[in-house]
Amino acid sequence: MTTYLPGDAEYDLLRKPLRADLDPHPAMIVKAERTEDVRGAILTARSQNLPLAVQATGHGTHQSTDGAVLLRTNEMAAVLIDPDRRIAKVGPGATWGQVLKAAAPLGLAPLSGSSPTVGVTGYTLGGGMGWLARKFGFAADSVTKARIVTAEGRLLTTSADQYPDLFWALRGGGGNFGIVTGLEFKLYPVAKVYAGTSTLTGDLFENLAAYRDWALNLPDEVSSAAVVRDNLVIVKTLSIGHHVPLWTEPATTDVREMGYAEASMGGTAARYFDYFAKLTDDVLGAAVANHEENGSTVEIRHWGGALANPGPDAGPVGHRDMPFSVILDNPSATIADELSPDAAGAGFLNFTGDPKKTERAYTTANLKRLRAVKSFYDPDNFFHLNAGFGAGDAKRVIAKRRRSA
Ligand SMILES: Cc1cc2nc3c(=O)[nH]c(=O)nc-3n(C[C@H](O)[C@H](O)[C@H](O)COP(=O)(O)OP(=O)(O)OC[C@H]3O[C@@H](n4cnc5c(N)ncnc54)[C@H](O)[C@@H]3O)c2cc1C
Repeated sequence: MTTYLPGDAEYDLLRKPLRADLDPHPAMIVKAERTEDVRGAILTARSQNLPLAVQATGHGTHQSTDGAVLLRTNEMAAVLIDPDRRIAKVGPGATWGQVLKAAAPLGLAPLSGSSPTVGVTGYTLGGGMGWLARKFGFAADSVTKARIVTAEGRLLTTSADQYPDLFWALRGGGGNFGIVTGLEFKLYPVAKVYAGTSTLTGDLFENLAAYRDWALNLPDEVSSAAVVRDNLVIVKTLSIGHHVPLWTEPATTDVREMGYAEASMGGTAARYFDYFAKLTDDVLGAAVANHEENGSTVEIRHWGGALANPGPDAGPVGHRDMPFSVILDNPSATIADELSPDAAGAGFLNFTGDPKKTERAYTTANLKRLRAVKSFYDPDNFFHLNAGFGAGDAKRVIAKRRRSA
């Protein structure tokens, strides 16, 4: 276990997450190289009464780690592929780029997301919605086994048969239950896809409305999003098996056959996110007006398919029946109110930067079950520097323990 303190040369290189507005100064940074180091970091933090935060890439860190023990896992980035079982086994620091590189030569694909630089573990624990998701579901639901160090420093291996409640909660409940030191998950036989972007000129609203009607009839093999940027509508598509043309001839297109690992489809920073059961004309009109007002990128993402048909063993990811989401990277002051009559008022953990809105990612029943698992494995809410189950949760749990002590 290598530790860095303020003043050490590497401390400054390791302390910052992706978000430029966060400039945290942790009390100590621990660079883990093995599971024992993860345990060591947890026990050190507990013995010094300090909070602990974990970071693989820093892409999903939305809270300051000031004064905390910051556990960096990026050195633990082993990736092993079992082609016969179509399983990947990865360390907690692995990125999607590393898994794609290892799986592609074997004709296999993981349920990765829009960027190869994102960490596999953080992405998967938060649900994981990628460009193969309409065909194969959330990445979280493809996890077959996880190793985790709990708040007490116990190392557990969890699967459908071992600690099943913990296994259920991990697959969509985020980093609330412990530090994951290894994940096993399914891969899929997807070698070639047709992917790329097509640009539509003309009326923004008309193009978005036509996209909505087209997307609703797509087979599960096709994933898509419509992005409004620079007064254009850009339709991103990725299809498995064969090319599916748009409803109209685009002004330009670069859609072509390629290996899945090459298909880097990009995404939009989710400063506004909500699901919509119906994308009404009012919703599309308000989103276009927001773009025209301040240049905000608008991304309409198509969900549905396998996402809406989870098996009986699926994890806690909520709102699975929602066919569309709207993402804005520069929401106007009034847009949330304008969209609220049609919006589901719901969230998806990986696209929820505001820890106070985490609860919206789950149904009431699943939130209750997640809290029960949390209070069993982490009754003191030691793991709270993450997307927790609501800002009040830590206080509620601690107050309850004090009352019963
Ligand atoms: C460019 C970009 C593209 C994205 N595209 C998508 C997408 O297509 N689909 C999608 O679903 N999401 C997407 N996301 C969101 C992304 O999945 C989340 O931000 C995720 O949390 C990133 O995980 P990370 O490990 O890279 O980040 P980190 O900041 O390192 O970790 C984020 C959080 O993950 C948890 N965590 C990480 N490692 C562990 C561990 N070992 N044990 C326990 N908890 C852990 C912790 O709660 C931690 O705070 C994208 C994000 C970015 C920045």
